[in-house]
Order: sequence, then C-alpha cells, then structure tokens
Amino acid sequence: MSLVLVILGRQGSGKGTQCARLVDHFGCPHVSTGDMLRAAREDGSELGRKAGEIMDAGGLVPDDVMIGIVRDRLAKPDVLRNGVLLDGFPRTPGQAEELEKMLAAQGQAIDVAINLDVPVDAVMERMLARGREDDTPEAIAKRLALYEEQTAPLVDWFSERDLLQVVDGLGTEDIVWQRVLSAIEADS
Ligand code: AMP
Repeated sequence: MSLVLVILGRQGSGKGTQCARLVDHFGCPHVSTGDMLRAAREDGSELGRKAGEIMDAGGLVPDDVMIGIVRDRLAKPDVLRNGVLLDGFPRTPGQAEELEKMLAAQGQAIDVAINLDVPVDAVMERMLARGREDDTPEAIAKRLALYEEQTAPLVDWFSERDLLQVVDGLGTEDIVWQRVLSAIEADS
C-alpha cells in the first residue's frame, strides 16, 4: 500500500515517536522539512544560513523556498514507489495547494492528515519534565502560541477537504499508535 500521509502536532505531542512507527509500518520515507532545514544549516549552505535565521526567530521559511525543496524530494523514486510521511509540510494553505498540485502531477494525492492532539497543559507538563534549559514556561508558551497561530488555517484547510483525522494523543505510545492506525484505515 502506498500512502501519502501528513502529520500535524504541536511540540511535545509525541509526533516523533508516532512518525517512527508509521515509517516502520508502511515502509514509506519520512520527509521532515524541519530536519531538511537543520541539515542545510549544518552544511553551512546559503539556504541553510538564511533558514537558520528564520527558524531562530520563530518565523516560517517563505513558501516558494519550501515548495522548491519539497518538490525535488517528492519526485524521488522512493516516494513514487512507497508514498510518503510528510512532517512539518505543508505549514500554510499555500503550501498545501502546491502540494496537491505536485502530487497530482505524479499520480498521487494526500490520503489523510493526522492531527495528533494533546492539550496545551499536558504538553507544557511534558516539556517542563524534560528539564531542558530553553524550556522555561514562558518560552514553551510562546512556541505553542506560535504553533497554534501558524497551524490553525492549515487544520481548517484539511478539514474543509475531509482529509483531517484528529487523533487523541493522550495515553501510552501503544494506545496512541492504535488510534493513529485506525484513523488512517478510516480515511484511506
Ligand atoms: P519543525 O522541526 O517542523 O518544527 O521546523 C522547525 C522550523 O523550520 C520551523 O519553526 C520553521 O521555521 C521551519 N520550517 C519547517 N518546515 C517549514 C515549512 N513547511 N514552511 C516554513 N517553515 C518551515
């Protein structure tokens, strides 16, 4: 089965864990635009340098840049053969529109967007428990508010197209995984 999956979830939602399971289960590549930008930054490329500044400021890299990066990646044979798990892309309705077009051009379409939902106070608790130095309550609250602001229009975009599945992210990894699988089966 070749699926095109999109996963959404705020920081601390357990998205990383569920992504690893999805990739393992469906044998599809994991395309994380955050990871791609961080890799570009490590390489010290011009793109990486510019993206790094934007990431540090909590902003979004411009749509045209992101769309170019993702278009190149999605045209690769592994995606054509095995589908893809998209993580961090699309981030805006504009990116979502372009994603639909680039997938259609290669005979694919978004099957389902999973929104891994964990209430803000639970995420706050999880992140504070990690005890990282940049995880002050104020910094966490700011990042979460920014995520909400940036993601809300995208959630609406998927919802309007009947592509959105909200998955309750509270519970053990195994329980959440069963919910994720059921959501995909329900919608694909
Ligand atoms: P993430 O690891 O998905 O949280 O991404 C880290 C940062 O990379 C984000 O805060 C953005 O600055 C940037 N970024 C990642 N994906 C995108 C995207 N699809 N569009 C714009 N900016 C992005």
